[in-house]
Amino acid sequence: MKLFPVRGGIHPEYRKEGSSEKAIVALPLPRALYIPLQQHIGAPAEALVAAGDTVGKGQVIARAQGAVSAPQHAPTSGRVTAVTEIAAPHPSGLAQMTIVIEPDGQDAWADLPAPIADPFAADPQAIKDRVAQSGIVGMGGAAFPSAVKLNLGTQHELEILLINGAECEPYLTCDDRVMREHADEVIDGARIMAHALGAPRIVIGIESNKPQAIAAMTRAAAAVANVEVVGVPVQYPMGSERHLTQAITGRETPARKLTADIGVVVHNVATARAVHHAVRFGRPLISRVITVSGGAIAEPKNVEAPIGTLIFDLVVFCGGLKSEPKRLVNGGPMMGQPLPSLEVPVVKGTSGVLALTAAEANEHPTGPCIRCGTCITICPCGLSPVEMASYIRKDNLDGAQKIGVQDCVSCGSCSYVCPSHIPLVHFFNYAKGALAAQDRERRRSDRVKTLSEARTIRLEKAAEAKRAAMAARKAQSASTAAASTADDKASA
Ligand code: SF4
Ligand code: SF4
Repeated sequence: MKLFPVRGGIHPEYRKEGSSEKAIVALPLPRALYIPLQQHIGAPAEALVAAGDTVGKGQVIARAQGAVSAPQHAPTSGRVTAVTEIAAPHPSGLAQMTIVIEPDGQDAWADLPAPIADPFAADPQAIKDRVAQSGIVGMGGAAFPSAVKLNLGTQHELEILLINGAECEPYLTCDDRVMREHADEVIDGARIMAHALGAPRIVIGIESNKPQAIAAMTRAAAAVANVEVVGVPVQYPMGSERHLTQAITGRETPARKLTADIGVVVHNVATARAVHHAVRFGRPLISRVITVSGGAIAEPKNVEAPIGTLIFDLVVFCGGLKSEPKRLVNGGPMMGQPLPSLEVPVVKGTSGVLALTAAEANEHPTGPCIRCGTCITICPCGLSPVEMASYIRKDNLDGAQKIGVQDCVSCGSCSYVCPSHIPLVHFFNYAKGALAAQDRERRRSDRVKTLSEARTIRLEKAAEAKRAAMAARKAQSASTAAASTADDKASA
């Protein structure tokens, strides 16, 4: 397949060798599991259980609320010990509502929905409903509810379902191992998703530094007519949806548009595998593969862990810490978030847990900008990070918006190459958050204004109707009085 060039990008030290040859191992059941109600983009789920309840493995314990949300399921059988606030795996460390389950050791399944016998003959809506019911969200880290994304086929003319196996973040090898060890499941899940989307072609894009994954996926796809497995250049951030789409199709996604607007929907390999489990076996998303790595981890591994496992338990399973980490990261080192502590749970979007030494964290004091322009040369979105940061420093968010800060994909490449070690991406994340909040506020006040105008019009109409009714009543009584006077006169 012909590939197309992608603008900018960098080649960080990949450091995948620590875990890439480690086959996936299952974590023994921990003593407690902590399942946050919000593990996805959208509205938090609503708890359906209370302390003291017993639950079966796979049972719905919190239901989705609204169109963009996802339910939560019990990762094992056991007893709910609390529904309470627990620190979230987020840099703020802020607490959020969490269901705590003490496993009973039986790991006994609850009644699950029946498998969909022939998914390719099923109504696409039945597949989307099953994906929604199963609590599946984007497992590449974005955690966007997958059923909502599978609905894009109803609003767009789709050409390609692009399965993202790029895994361009340093250290992370969980997708690589999933493709090597579960290629058939990924291909089957991808075919089911393509059926739900109405996409005629499936392309699986894998960075060419994963030859075993490419070979395994090619073998698994050999008998399927509409699936192509493609090795894409090793170039960070190739795993960004927009850049992978560009490399495969040559088409650029317009600013603030979706890849679906140019005929492509992108899903992660682990998401495809979760869809296979949900449709073929009725199993919800209750575990995931996580890379545990970094120089401070004694034995880096790829671990299949129940959702809700404490990161502390995961690290202990990997031999513990062999030195004091300088940085703890949830995800990869480029786009991941700092972990507030090890006492936070694994969630559906947790692709990696990294404990980096001081040498790996490579932190330096920030210097002044030397106007070298390197950040502009490498930005894969064609932006000018130095100018955007300058506007944001002056609190001129409108200026930053005008030159495209909302098109930044937060890849961190500019921060990585900046010789003055300016944390540019932090400025952009702040600005994007503030602009999104402004936008929400604007939409909220527009809604309030519209409602208030509608109310005024309604009240005016009601008053008008009342006036008209009174006038009609007055006219009616006047005419009755006149008629009665006329009658009186006639009878006199
Ligand atoms: S973080 Fe944003 S501005 Fe910086 S290189 Fe990536 S896309 Fe460009
Ligand atoms: S890379 Fe850093 S020093 Fe160079 S122009 Fe950009 S912000 Fe300034």
